[in-house]
Amino acid sequence: MKNTSMQAGQSRLRRSIFRISIVAGLFGVAVVTIGFVQSKDRVFTYPVHDTNRPQPAIVTPGAACTSSAPSDAIVLFGGKDLSAWSKGGTDAPAGWAVKDGVATIVPGSGDITTRQSFGDCQFHIEWMVPAELKCESQHGCNSGLFFNSQYELQILNSSGNVTYADGMAGSLYGQYPPLVNPCRPQGEWNTYDVIFRGPRFDASAGIIRTATETVFFNGVLVQDDVEILGATVHGARASYSAHPEAGPIKLQDHGDPLKFRNIWIRPLGKPQVAE
Ligand code: MG
Repeated sequence: MKNTSMQAGQSRLRRSIFRISIVAGLFGVAVVTIGFVQSKDRVFTYPVHDTNRPQPAIVTPGAACTSSAPSDAIVLFGGKDLSAWSKGGTDAPAGWAVKDGVATIVPGSGDITTRQSFGDCQFHIEWMVPAELKCESQHGCNSGLFFNSQYELQILNSSGNVTYADGMAGSLYGQYPPLVNPCRPQGEWNTYDVIFRGPRFDASAGIIRTATETVFFNGVLVQDDVEILGATVHGARASYSAHPEAGPIKLQDHGDPLKFRNIWIRPLGKPQVAE
């Protein structure tokens, strides 16, 4: 009887140890999984604008290509005029120059914004930094493309012009450097093809879905469905403020006469799933 009782006790002990091991094992898996999920898109390895952050590898893009608008796109600039745009935040005409099918920033004339508002979209733009401009880091060759007028995809000469990685061409400014650097030299046209999905907010202005962005730069993937951390700011961690789904798209006058052509957009609905 005593032996049987001891054996039963040992058996219960073994079962307890087994259960504890299983729970500990599952907890370990959960920790690893949570760690992986949390680190998937948000690895705060470097401070904002850290000049020690490694520079993305230089990639030579394929043959230069242009892309006029597909039939269902809204043409925002087809080479004739900037009537789809206004001086940023006003009804006044956009102050940039148009000549030979190309729009050029007139420094000091101000940002320009689309007269129409957009949310989720596919967006195409071609831009060029004239050969004669002198570039030094963020100065001399800078513009920017802002969805909802506040989430910037940086436009900058990054061919032979070194700056902090999260401020390069193809970066989501102050957040994500481009995966690689396929920027063409000054005097040559670059293309951006973007899929932007805007954020969603609830009735209490709480965020229920962060914005995401995918960017092809000269046909090369440089942003892969990344989670935007908030409205673009300089030198600080970004955060969100609630806003309507649709808003104007902004092109930045940073004081440098960059050139643009072939700008078009295709608004996107929700993905349709088969039942
Ligand atoms: Mg900029």
